[in-house]
Amino acid sequence: MNGYYAAYLGRIWESGSPVPELAGLIARLEKEDAEREALFDEAREAAVSVFGKAVYMRGLIEFTDHCKNDCLYCGIRRSNKKARRYRLSRETILASCEAGYENGFRTFVLQGGEDAALNDEFYCSLLGEIKSAWPDAAVTLSIGERSRGSYEAYRRAGADRYLLRHESADPDLYALWHPPFQRHSDRMRCLDDLKSLGYQTGIGFMVGAPFQDDVHLARELLFIRRFRPAMVGLGPFIPHADTPFGEYPAGSAEKSLIMLALTRLISPDVLLPATTALGTVEGEGRERGILAGCNVIMPNISPAENRADYSLYDNKVIDGRNAEESRGALAARIRKIGYEPVVSRGDYQGKP
Ligand code: SAH
Repeated sequence: MNGYYAAYLGRIWESGSPVPELAGLIARLEKEDAEREALFDEAREAAVSVFGKAVYMRGLIEFTDHCKNDCLYCGIRRSNKKARRYRLSRETILASCEAGYENGFRTFVLQGGEDAALNDEFYCSLLGEIKSAWPDAAVTLSIGERSRGSYEAYRRAGADRYLLRHESADPDLYALWHPPFQRHSDRMRCLDDLKSLGYQTGIGFMVGAPFQDDVHLARELLFIRRFRPAMVGLGPFIPHADTPFGEYPAGSAEKSLIMLALTRLISPDVLLPATTALGTVEGEGRERGILAGCNVIMPNISPAENRADYSLYDNKVIDGRNAEESRGALAARIRKIGYEPVVSRGDYQGKP
């Protein structure tokens, strides 16, 4: 059964001018509280009809903040001389997986900067070790742009999923956020490679980042519809003081929730995390995300001493000192709103 907004979106796709129509819808939703609530209700029901009241938990390991890229919004960009750089050893990463596994996690998300010191051999042998120690766990990589050959090698070594936010479907906006050596076409090539290699592939973008308007956001939604990702990572932009975008305001929780809810209606079976950034701009942002159609949460299971160093933006919310505390804190929040935290692999069930 199509609800009001799903049907509305259906008409927009047919309209011949989907970008301005979608941009208009986004603007209206931002203005009208009642409409927004109705959208959130419909998106929540869409998620419940696919996933029930399950919220998948993923153990996030932020294993390096060395990065050769220079994204203007990001605190771990290479030009930020103030960033405290760390790189977890293979042993420490495995110990984090072990603690995560003991706490029930059956997905490990390995995320890091584009660390030039870590080569394919490192990743492949790490993946091999994780997969042989915990064969029933899924591994998601989020380590940026690599060659097709590298992606292929990681996949063979056992990686199941890959998160690479496209950041923007608009090459001109992308160019305002990145230095010239980071090319939009490379990002797109990577995403196509990942998908064709059989990864459950995640795309995504920030909301409320500098120079972004509703027309851009409309294009992001069209890109989601076209790409058909397994996952979408989407949260507010939050300034980091030691970046060129440090003086810009953060994106709002409200607008992020609108984009999450529309994403849910566009792809009912997509895996959609309520992100840490959403929980950072608003105390109960992640709960509100789940109530607007999200179905994934990613507790941080990195070692406590490195968490603050992995600083993409300022004031990142920290949920606990270890895997057990992070999981406990977020599980309690999920239960409190009537949902059930689930630690099974939670693979994407839709058609790729
Ligand atoms: N280097 C990896 C993963 C780390 S960055 C990669 O390129 O995929 C993960 C995501 O954090 C980015 O894709 C970006 O969308 C988001 N991010 C970076 N800086 C941010 C900021 N200041 N506010 C909100 N999100 C940010």
